[in-house]
Amino acid sequence: MATRQMTKEYMKWRGAVLLRDNYTCSQCGQVGGSLHAHHIKEWAKYPEERYNVENGQTLCKECHCRIGMVNFWNNFGLDIAEISKDAIERLPERNKVVFTKRFGLMGEKKHYYHEIGAYFGVNNSRARQLVWQSCQRLKRLMYA
Ligand SMILES: [Zn+2]
Repeated sequence: MATRQMTKEYMKWRGAVLLRDNYTCSQCGQVGGSLHAHHIKEWAKYPEERYNVENGQTLCKECHCRIGMVNFWNNFGLDIAEISKDAIERLPERNKVVFTKRFGLMGEKKHYYHEIGAYFGVNNSRARQLVWQSCQRLKRLMYA
């Protein structure tokens, strides 16, 4: 199966988004490195917006991951403090995999604790604790 990353149309769209944003992450200001073109209106829900440059936003890998996580939590009504076996078990199988992959990435990004904390209205050390606990819980659930 060809992924969307491999199509000419996608690569053209991605290139146009990065060029317009001067190869700079719109969230943290990182220039160059591992940059992604994020779909503001989701790829799956808005097929007509897939190749609209206006619907693109340049993000570094970490910021893309974070935005993806927040959107993902919101879509399923999940909160970082409420990630539990039950909550994960209720997710469709495909989303369980996405969730785990994204969460795995997220746990390694210590410098995002303050943003996670701000998002959930808790301090840095509480955010760190929540991410750590949730990661451990997820690892036990998914890889045990
Ligand atoms: Zn960034």
